[in-house]
Parts: sequence; structure tokens; C-alpha cells
Amino acid sequence: MNNIQHTKLLILGSGPAGYTAAIYSARANLNPILITGIDIGGQLTKTTNVENWPGNFPNISGNKLMDNLHNHALYFKTNIINDYILKVDLKQKPFFLTGNFFKYTCDSLIIATGAVPKFLGLDSEKKFIGKGISSCAICDGSFYYNRKIAVIGGGNTAIEEALYLSNIASEVHLIHRKSYFSAEKILINKLLDKVKNNNIILHNPYIVKEILGNQFGVTGIKIFSSTNIENYKIINLYGIFISIGTIPNTNLFKNLLKLDNNGYIITNHISKNKFNFTQTSISGIFAAGDVMDNVYRQAITSAATGCMAAVDAQNYLRKNF
Ligand code: FAD
Repeated sequence: MNNIQHTKLLILGSGPAGYTAAIYSARANLNPILITGIDIGGQLTKTTNVENWPGNFPNISGNKLMDNLHNHALYFKTNIINDYILKVDLKQKPFFLTGNFFKYTCDSLIIATGAVPKFLGLDSEKKFIGKGISSCAICDGSFYYNRKIAVIGGGNTAIEEALYLSNIASEVHLIHRKSYFSAEKILINKLLDKVKNNNIILHNPYIVKEILGNQFGVTGIKIFSSTNIENYKIINLYGIFISIGTIPNTNLFKNLLKLDNNGYIITNHISKNKFNFTQTSISGIFAAGDVMDNVYRQAITSAATGCMAAVDAQNYLRKNF
């Protein structure tokens, strides 16, 4: 393989957004190269059951779904390369990217590098990720129908997830390390209504010290008062939703592309310009999936924006090359 490879379209990421962009652009004869990154298949490979990918019911494993997407992209002759991009030069055209193994130049680029959910960093937590510990209420909430669960966090997402889960679970324990919530007032009011009349129980300020469990998964949580370390509680429950934020994989693009305050790539969908929805602040560079979406963060929405990015890239290449 040549040390520098040129392509009309380079796609970064092998999650639902990257593979979908590859399928659409390969079918449009753009001969894309897709760089998988280290996390081949992306976030979905961390989950055993995906119940909400349309057409695969009652469920499909995350690994199987991502294998299918990989094979689908290969079927249309996407050039899939296991490499990880370390450096980008977006000032020159063609764009120049340096990977761990190879160097690439491209006329257009789709960034689908996704995001990583933040976890608490406890050893006991690592053991149970996917076995009672989740980072996504919409994805995994329905596994806890009529069961006791906890949500950890105090921002908008944590409160929204607690409210959403309170319609599914029998009891939702909302645990937050501070005495106040940083979520919007309207959400806090809804939360307090639920606390008064329903099934949400507040524990704040409390810090999670340990996740308890056995070979089948989570069985409880040990929390300590932030103000008095002697004061602790053990709550028996089946599921814990860690809702303390996500980190978009955009380090490579800092100071090169416009990012929002949380580090997500800003695309046209945020401005009034509805056309060219996935265009970033540099023409010819598009973004898709969780890396540009701090709201929906689903496989299907990532795939949808992957499709849009492929169509936008195709338009760009037709007009400019
Ligand atoms: P990701 O899946 O995050 O993939 C990003 C890709 O970019 C990876 O392949 C990575 O290797 C690559 N990459 C990163 N940096 C670089 C680099 N420098 N160079 C090259 N490549 C790079 N959603 C659902 O719809 N249903 C569910 O049931 C569901 N369950 C979930 C369970 C868990 C535990 C988690 C964590 C998420 C779940 N989600 C679910 C959310 C869903 O997985 C994400 O919304 C989706 O994977 C985002 O897709 P993406 O393509 O944007 O990015």
C-alpha cells in the first residue's frame, strides 16, 4: 500500500454514522475510504441488546448490528482501513491527514468520530457496564420495567433521564453530589412535582462510592453524604444510569473547526441555513452522528446524519471537482 493515499471522500469512524455515510457514498461511486479508528464498530459494540434499530426485532446484539453495517459497506466496495487519525491539516486542499499507519489526502471529509459517555471511574462500575450500568435511558430504560433503578447526575440530561425513566421503573433514585441541580428551572420544577407525587426519590448531596452486584449484574449502590462521610446508605436496585455527560471525539479539530461550548462540531443545522445540513465551518468537511449531536445520540439518528453527510459531500464534489 502506498504511504500517502488520495481519495475523493475520506470518512472517519466506524460507528453507525461512518458506515452509513460509506454505504451511501460508495453507491454514488465516490469510492470512499473509511478509517475505523481504534473502537471498531463504535459505541454500540458495548451493548448486548439493541431493541430500537428498526427492522431488527425483538432485538439484535450491538456487535452483530455493527458487523452487518461493516459488511454492508464492504459489499459496496468501501475501502475500509484499520487506522487511527492522529493529526489533520485542514488549511490546505486537498485536506491532509496523518494516521497511525498511513497518510491520507482527500477532496472531502466526513467526520463521524462519535462521542464517549463519561463514567464515574470506579473499579466496581467497570465490572457492570452493560450488566446493569448504562449511559442511555432511551436505549436501555425498557429493560427495567417496574424495577428499582438509580440515575446519577444533576444536569439537564440527568433530570430528563430520571423523568423519562420514572414512567418505566417502579422507583427512580436520583443521586447527585451537590446540594443543588444545575438543570434548567423548568426541568427542576417537573422533577419536584414527580418527587412529591410519584416515584422519584432524591439523594443529594450524595456521592457514589461503590456499585454492588453479583455474577448476574448490579444489585445495589453504596452512597455517602458529601457533607458527612460517616453517613452512608445502601440502596438495593437493578439498574444504574450514569448521566454525567458525554465527551465528543473532537480533540483533533480544536481551533480548526467551529465547536460549541461542549466541544461538539457545529454544523449548518444549528444555523438558519437548512441546506447542506451537515456542513461544518470549512467547506468540503461534513460531520455526522454523535460528534455533532448532543441531543438525540441514537444509532438511528447517527445513521441518518451519516446518510445526509454522504449526500452533502456528493453535492460538494459535483460542484467543485
Ligand atoms: P460512535 O458509535 O461513537 O463511533 C465513533 C467511531 O469513530 C468509532 O469507530 C471510533 O473508532 C472512531 N474514531 C474516533 N476517533 C477517531 C480517530 N481519531 N480516527 C479515526 N476514527 C476515530 N443507541 C441506540 O440507538 N440504541 C441502543 O440500544 C443504544 N445502546 C447504547 C448502549 C451503550 C452502552 C452506549 C454507550 C450507547 C448506546 N447507544 C444506543 C448510542 C449509540 O451507540 C450512539 O448514538 C451511536 O453509536 C453513535 O454513532 P456514531 O457513528 O456517531 O459514533
